[in-house]
Amino acid sequence: MLEPLNTLREIFQVAADLDEPGQLLELIVSRVRLALKAEVCSIYLLDAVEDCFVLKATEGLDKSAINQVRLPRGEGLVGYIAEHQALLNVERASTHPNFVFFPQTGEQAFESFLGTPIVHFRKLIGVLTIQKHAAEKFTLEQEAFAITIAAQLAGPLDQSLDNGDLHLRDERVPDVNIRFRGVKGASGLAMGKALWVKRKHTLAGIVDTRLADVSADRDADRDAEIQRFRVALSAAKEDLKEQKERMRGNLPKDVLALYGMYRMILEDRSLADEIETYIKAGWTAATALRKTVKNHARAFETMEDDYLKAKAEDILHIGQRVYAQLRGEEDDIAAVSGPTILVGADLSISDIAEFPTQHLAGIVCTKGSALSHLAILANALGVPAVLGVGELDPNRIDKAETILDGYRAIVIFKPVEQLQREYRKLLTQESALLKGLDALRDLPAETPDGTAITLLANTGLLADITPGLSRGAQGIGLYRSEIPFMMHESFPSEGEQVDIYRPVLEAYHPKPVCMRTLDIGGDKNLPYFVFTEDNPFLGWRGIRFTLDNSSIFLSQIRAMLRANIGLNNLSLLLPMISRLDEVLEFKQLLTEAVLQLESEGYEIVLPRLGIMIEVPSAMLILDQLAEHIDFISIGSNDFTQYLLAVDRNNVKVSQLYSWFQPAVLRGLKSVVTQAKALGLPTSLCGEMAADPAAVILLMGMGIDQLSMSAYTLPKTKWVIRSIPQSVAVSVWNEVQLMKTESAIRQRLTEVLEQHGLGGLIRAGAH
Ligand code: PEP
Ligand code: MG
Repeated sequence: MLEPLNTLREIFQVAADLDEPGQLLELIVSRVRLALKAEVCSIYLLDAVEDCFVLKATEGLDKSAINQVRLPRGEGLVGYIAEHQALLNVERASTHPNFVFFPQTGEQAFESFLGTPIVHFRKLIGVLTIQKHAAEKFTLEQEAFAITIAAQLAGPLDQSLDNGDLHLRDERVPDVNIRFRGVKGASGLAMGKALWVKRKHTLAGIVDTRLADVSADRDADRDAEIQRFRVALSAAKEDLKEQKERMRGNLPKDVLALYGMYRMILEDRSLADEIETYIKAGWTAATALRKTVKNHARAFETMEDDYLKAKAEDILHIGQRVYAQLRGEEDDIAAVSGPTILVGADLSISDIAEFPTQHLAGIVCTKGSALSHLAILANALGVPAVLGVGELDPNRIDKAETILDGYRAIVIFKPVEQLQREYRKLLTQESALLKGLDALRDLPAETPDGTAITLLANTGLLADITPGLSRGAQGIGLYRSEIPFMMHESFPSEGEQVDIYRPVLEAYHPKPVCMRTLDIGGDKNLPYFVFTEDNPFLGWRGIRFTLDNSSIFLSQIRAMLRANIGLNNLSLLLPMISRLDEVLEFKQLLTEAVLQLESEGYEIVLPRLGIMIEVPSAMLILDQLAEHIDFISIGSNDFTQYLLAVDRNNVKVSQLYSWFQPAVLRGLKSVVTQAKALGLPTSLCGEMAADPAAVILLMGMGIDQLSMSAYTLPKTKWVIRSIPQSVAVSVWNEVQLMKTESAIRQRLTEVLEQHGLGGLIRAGAH
């Protein structure tokens, strides 16, 4: 009996030890041929640029034909399979009308042919073929085996192709267009030279005993080494201070606070004493430092607590700084000129902070998600970023010309000239667009036929405040309070929170500021309060978490109320509401907070209260919720995700995530209509508010307010000022009858073009 899963298991086991990804193909063909007891097994992969299938591996045909046999789509049996995207099982291949004979393969000897397409998420990657001498059809069991193998290997093959590990061209063809897809960290386009952020003095580097010549160490001149260490330590302190000063204007206070922590470690006498003790025992300064850092970092690394674990990184970072001073090594960054795309395996906030802002064009990180600190910082700085791209080979990409497309979450290293020209054009269009949009800053967000829509900013970092105000935000529509919590090292105290919230309320005063209570869980975790769940998006999220941790919640509510004293521009927003009890329980806590504060002598004004419409159940009981709240804000990110049951961070299904699905549009319309009837002001604060095509529909549905990141605000204003409300209404009337997402997108693109907003599509800002 054929056992495809055993064969697959074997393939994966051996594949783990392969040096080169190309060997994976050889491994597959040899194992499949063996399992099917066939004479030949081959793999052809699609070269999308030339739209042809290339023989990439074979066991049984002449290997010199590899890379030489190229079949245009539709030609040959391989092309036939690709065109029909179906299995082909023929007794005599040469009698098939599509048969093409390639003498260099020596395939004339083989009669029967079995071929199956390799498809990953509807994308055709290649064709797997099996051939035998005898003129007899393959059995159904053999067919099933081939189909199973092709289906299971499609994913790994696609991944390797995406990473550029498998080349479709002859190896003589230059190494170009190395393309990676990640997740969107911050939107925007960038071009520049990649700079791989090296960890010259990594923990491994510093503590690796192989690096040290231990016997030579023992002969060190103790006094001279102590002196060297002290000079390096004070140089590192000076360097840290200078960097902090340099960054003061560019970085939010909360990020600058990291420097305080680094300084504390540098000034920690116990570390310095330990190093000097080692030196006195005869070790060189470098080895003494390495040993001490190793002791301390390892101690933290072994701790259970994630927060303390993270401390190891800080100690390491500081160790690296002193080590660099000791060795007097030049910093890569000092040599940087021109637009640069920072690339790294594990970029930290301080890597970005240390980089000269005038050269920072983009950020690429192998790790990270849409809500990681790096993404938050990139958004605050308005620097395009693509995160979570997976493994990168620094040797291949360091110093390479690079294109970063933050709209589509794509990075292309070593792009061919044609592609560079295309993106240069897009960049010029984008910057012209942004310059043009500056002029809109002080103009009202009003349609040509006089309908005004309030445009608000989404923030969470202090650094977000200035761009919001300078781009004409009429207030804050969504203050994500979990962001300062995420930047902190432990739950911030009530007093610390007052100091965080008050400057935000003051900066916008008298404009309204809508602060959302802590929304963690799902993909948003606090480094100091980590919990794991099988299904986090349906778990302990948002209001569920805060109601269960009422003392944390109470201190946040008290802090917000205190920060609002004398300003009265605060409103409160509750995330993830799915049932009425949650609102009622919150109101009890609110009353409790007010009574406590009043008894302490504070004069409290009750803020307006709103809820996020993210969970579909809230939409269905809006009439019951209405009497307890003052407004609603639609979180279109979660609303879309929950309505369609699609996790947008899961690449297997993320292509199904779209707010242009008729069901999502109907849901949104229902919320807007109900809210109008119930007299509830309605805002929308998800990504949809920054999508020009979607804005047309939201206008047509009659939404009052939109809230988005400061950098996207001018684009939305341009749409509102260009498209009359009457047009938006009639487009919505047309669209609500449409049944497919593609028809809806096409119609909206036409409308944008007709109103001179094509630039928004061409510059990728959709
Ligand atoms: C949303 O879900 O649309 C939203 C704005 O909230 P989040 O912070 O989860 O993106
Ligand atoms: Mg949400």
